[in-house]
Amino acid sequence: MRKRIRVLLKSDAPLAISEGFRGEWAVPAKEYIPGSAVRGAIARYLIDSSLEEGLQEMKRLLLMPGTAVLDFHPVMINTHGINHNKEEKNLSKEVSRIAETGKFPLTAISCKRRPGFIGETFSDGLKKHGMSDSLETLLLKLLCNEKQIGDTRCEKCKERQELFEGWYQLEKGNGENQLSSVGVNPATSSYIHIGIDPDRGATTQGIFYTIDALDEEQFFLGAIIVDDHPEDWLKILKPETYLFLGAGKSRGYGAARIEVVQIESEKIERENESLLEPPEIRCRKFTERIRSKGGFVEEGSWLVPLTLLSSSIIMDRFLRPVLDDITKDVRDHGLPTTGKPILVKARSQTIQGWHSASDIPKPDFTAIANGSVFVYQSPANEQTVQALYRIEDMGIGFRRAEGFGRVRVASPLHSGILAKGK
Ligand SMILES: [Zn+2]
Repeated sequence: MRKRIRVLLKSDAPLAISEGFRGEWAVPAKEYIPGSAVRGAIARYLIDSSLEEGLQEMKRLLLMPGTAVLDFHPVMINTHGINHNKEEKNLSKEVSRIAETGKFPLTAISCKRRPGFIGETFSDGLKKHGMSDSLETLLLKLLCNEKQIGDTRCEKCKERQELFEGWYQLEKGNGENQLSSVGVNPATSSYIHIGIDPDRGATTQGIFYTIDALDEEQFFLGAIIVDDHPEDWLKILKPETYLFLGAGKSRGYGAARIEVVQIESEKIERENESLLEPPEIRCRKFTERIRSKGGFVEEGSWLVPLTLLSSSIIMDRFLRPVLDDITKDVRDHGLPTTGKPILVKARSQTIQGWHSASDIPKPDFTAIANGSVFVYQSPANEQTVQALYRIEDMGIGFRRAEGFGRVRVASPLHSGILAKGK
């Protein structure tokens, strides 16, 4: 099992991590910090800290095979009652409670009229109608003989439900071994800037542009995955260290402070294991759920839903992007599946980036967007179990060192926990 070093960042200034500059006057912001941006910031930090040694250390740590800097997702951390003297320890405890973070899967839906988690209200006091996951219904439509399937209309008002986009965190619920899902809404602001003429050093006539940025004082949780020697990272990633992320650094954007660094110790691993059951158990339970509702799944088989926690760059042997199929990659991890996925809910996304070491843009890639879902059917045997661990551990596709290609097997979000809310 590879080691996960979890890192909690807090924005100290607005973070302008753009969705990609296309020459327009407005630059939209990403709502998360891509692993590639954090990786670049760590590289820059090391190089600046002590030139020759830093460069060597940067190469040794970041280019170590198997090392991956994952995406940093917005999280809700309850800072009320956190005692300032013990702040780091308390924040660390909050981090341990969180099992997973990410973008809602593309199967998450909510009422068209009053979308959102049950138990939450809009600013005008009206109640939200609750979330649900449509994967089960989609599968039942596929696997049931009779077409009499429960529909996906809102239980409260019978209005149609539609794709619900946003962020979630899975955390320890009230009961024993219970998870609950919480919606996370990262806050962004737009800033107007005036172009500066480099020759005159004064404002340029008629050049206005806006930058969207994530607000300051927000928390982002991510991780660095390593094969061994996680303690090496503790020497450089110290709490209160600043990393500089995204665009506009000379205009006061981009400062983020490291708050917590946590190597998943055995204790936390066990704790988290009880939070998130092993992948084969999740697959078995998911399959039983579908069977109990009348879906036909062959005896001795499991349904294996794979949900992308980060965007995945998949290419065929001619290096053309593949946008609707991850079969080759999961087979490479040993998943004994005979054919294509039985169900796909996917979407594409353009990946742009900046190579901070060389100061040049990275080439654009077309990737499968995070939140995409692929369902396979596999024999319920040891080979499948091994493959499931490898898929979660290693990820799929290209540029995995920058956090692309992370996969969750049978995500708890597909098993009714969205509907419950907190
Ligand atoms: Zn409704």
